[in-house]
Amino acid sequence: MPSVCIVIGMAGSGKTSLMQRINAYQHTKGEVPYIVNLDPAVGKLPYEANIDIQDTVNYKEVMKEYNLGPNGGILTAANLFATRFDQVVGLCEKRAADIDHVFVDTPGQIEIFTWSASGAIVTESFASTFPTCVLFVVDTPRAQNPQAFMSNMLQAVSILYKTRLPMVVVFNKIDVVRHEQMLEWMDDFEKFHEVVDQDKSFASDLSRSLSLVLDEFYKTLRRAGVSAMSGEGMEELFDAIGRCRKDYLAEYWPDLRRRK
Ligand code: GDP
Ligand code: MG
Repeated sequence: MPSVCIVIGMAGSGKTSLMQRINAYQHTKGEVPYIVNLDPAVGKLPYEANIDIQDTVNYKEVMKEYNLGPNGGILTAANLFATRFDQVVGLCEKRAADIDHVFVDTPGQIEIFTWSASGAIVTESFASTFPTCVLFVVDTPRAQNPQAFMSNMLQAVSILYKTRLPMVVVFNKIDVVRHEQMLEWMDDFEKFHEVVDQDKSFASDLSRSLSLVLDEFYKTLRRAGVSAMSGEGMEELFDAIGRCRKDYLAEYWPDLRRRK
């Protein structure tokens, strides 16, 4: 039974690049990759997808047909695809014996996935069939700014509460900026306060208070620092995914059984 990893993160955080890197890493390990692309607007993919939403729906056609702008087109394309998602899960089930992981790339704009019916359908369909986790990708150079860091963490917490799935915070682009400082901020809110206190604004007051609330939440998260560019951190990432699988089987799965 493969583990499903749903890759979510803000636009430009490096989700698609990370898929490409994971794909290459799996090849070197002799593992058979299985990748699902759910971004209707990505165009040519830098990796070979086993299932590509773009083969089924053309978001530009959807824009014309329903008289929508680009975001509406992408959202509607994703929702249309979601109505047939049982077939996607079916295809993954057929391959269950020979694959260890299914990686799922999501639309560039995070809201398209997190604030639509399609995101909920995709997540629930996978999570009720396979051990599933969320890889929340953070643009580490950008998150050096404490307010940007906080926005990322708030996004992550809202996804965690909505999905209830195990999550790995994947600090990407560590070839540009290391992520250790962010790990420190998560482990010790006083370290975070030292940085936000350097500026006296409403935003920094808010970040300061939020960090106290998020302290408990941080403890439930797995972390990994990676570079989709250089390939650093892949072992650590797969390790964290393995631990999420255990969390899923210990917590999510029994809960799902109870609810059924
Ligand atoms: P997505 O919108 O989350 O799918 O992000 P993309 O994968 O399209 O990447 C956005 C930009 O970040 C591109 O210009 C990538 O080349 C760049 N990028 C992604 N990962 C890395 C990384 O690990 N290091 C560096 N330096 N750049 C990266
Ligand atoms: Mg992308």
